[in-house]
Amino acid sequence: MSRAPASHPPPGRECVCGGELKQIPLPADIIALAGQRYILIHVETADTRCYPDSDSPGERAATAEPL
Ligand SMILES: [Zn+2]
Repeated sequence: MSRAPASHPPPGRECVCGGELKQIPLPADIIALAGQRYILIHVETADTRCYPDSDSPGERAATAEPL
């Protein structure tokens, strides 16, 4: 995958799908339930899922995962 030279590095991480990710801190009670301190969402779609509109159930189930 070729990417344009980063004159300004993106603030977030990059997802396995190529999208930019943003970390959203979770409230303390959610942390206790979920066992994680933040969730990752896609900056463009504000969705945790990589391909929410995909025809494939497997792809629709795919969630943000940092490279
Ligand atoms: Zn993704």
